[in-house]
Amino acid sequence: MKLYSTNNPNATVSLKEAVFKGLPPDNGLYMPTHIPVLPESFFHKIETLSFRDIAFEVSKTLIGDDIPETDLRQIINDVITFDAPMVHLKDNIYVLELFHGPSFAFKDFGARFMARIMSYFLQKENKEINILVATSGDTGSAVAQGFLNMPGIKVTILYPSKKVSDIQEKQLTTLGQNVTALEVSGNFDDCQRMVKEAFLDKELNEKLSLSSANSINISRLIPQSFYYFYAYAQAKKLGAASVVFCTPSGNFGNLCAGLIGKRMGLPVQKFVAATNANDIVPKYLETGLFSPRASVATLSNAMDVGNPSNFARIQALYDGDLDKVKVDIVGKAYNDDATRKAMKEVYEQTGYVMCPHTTVAYLGLSDYLKESHSEATGILLSTAHPAKFIDEVQEIIGKNIEIPEKLAVVLKKEKKSIPMSNNFHDFKRFLLQ
Ligand SMILES: *Cc1c(COP(=O)(O)O)cnc(C)c1O
Repeated sequence: MKLYSTNNPNATVSLKEAVFKGLPPDNGLYMPTHIPVLPESFFHKIETLSFRDIAFEVSKTLIGDDIPETDLRQIINDVITFDAPMVHLKDNIYVLELFHGPSFAFKDFGARFMARIMSYFLQKENKEINILVATSGDTGSAVAQGFLNMPGIKVTILYPSKKVSDIQEKQLTTLGQNVTALEVSGNFDDCQRMVKEAFLDKELNEKLSLSSANSINISRLIPQSFYYFYAYAQAKKLGAASVVFCTPSGNFGNLCAGLIGKRMGLPVQKFVAATNANDIVPKYLETGLFSPRASVATLSNAMDVGNPSNFARIQALYDGDLDKVKVDIVGKAYNDDATRKAMKEVYEQTGYVMCPHTTVAYLGLSDYLKESHSEATGILLSTAHPAKFIDEVQEIIGKNIEIPEKLAVVLKKEKKSIPMSNNFHDFKRFLLQ
């Protein structure tokens, strides 16, 4: 597999280099130089394959010789240890539940795959690296869980004290092993600044091998394509003639993975890109103008992104041609009032509880299916378990919801964090000790 920078098609690197660099030095994003198409025979029998088998075929086709088949099979078996079931909601609408992993959100897929790919390349070289992550909540817990007990990798997570939810804090601070949580007296921007300064610090980089677990790393994108294929397989088993996906989007990595799947031959009629009030991409699809702006805070806060980082990848996939983009993607945006109303309505009609992000996707999908009179099977991606947003969800639906056993266990564990000032030099001293 070769990857190029979206800022310079001639600057190509290997998968290994792209994974450890994260970002090309020219500030573009890595994209595969060639997206191979899966054979028709694969799609003929896809409904008979397991999630792991599907993930293996897709990754083998995309990654090629960079990782031998037996090693790749092992990595896939370690990543896919939980299901992504498709649940019927109503009419021709299904929910693809991506929250059955350790952090109860879809980011587990990306984080687990990245951790195992990194660890695989490191073991071959007998190297050790330090992953630094600044988090405002959700990314941190998926990354921490993903890298837990990975040989050769130490993880340091910086989170803003008192600015993450109870559940999030417990998920970050109760793992131990190779994961250290630093509770920073400051806000998320302080955490991010300290991590950025560390990457620029000469002494730190001489003494430690630092790496990031950034959301734009190509190894987080690749595994997110697997479940689009698996969803299609489940729909095909139910007799679906064609499918429409709706992805609740912030940085658009998840949607981008679906688009790559389509390039690999997955028969998708349409992708609906659903956002909250941060509607930069729906606006672009409507007007042709991409106008990033400061994000606004919403109920679906993991999607509060004002400058979606994967937009460059979408542009690269469609040669920057809006007409081509619009063939595959339709944009939809919803404010918090609409989201609250839909979450309550769906709960009252069906008994199904959706997290705020999932609800935005529900709205996008049901509106699109209505407007287009599509007979397709609609699949909305459910990106997080509702219990991760328990206070908001309970208030909206007016009922207490159950906390999954595994999450309840985490909540009972004792928090272990190291207090840290928001001064870079304190952080640096800690890393060097
Ligand atoms: C990160 C996240 C999203 C947005 O995903 P992108 O790939 O950034 O578009 C949606 N929902 C939840 C729950 C998330 O954590």
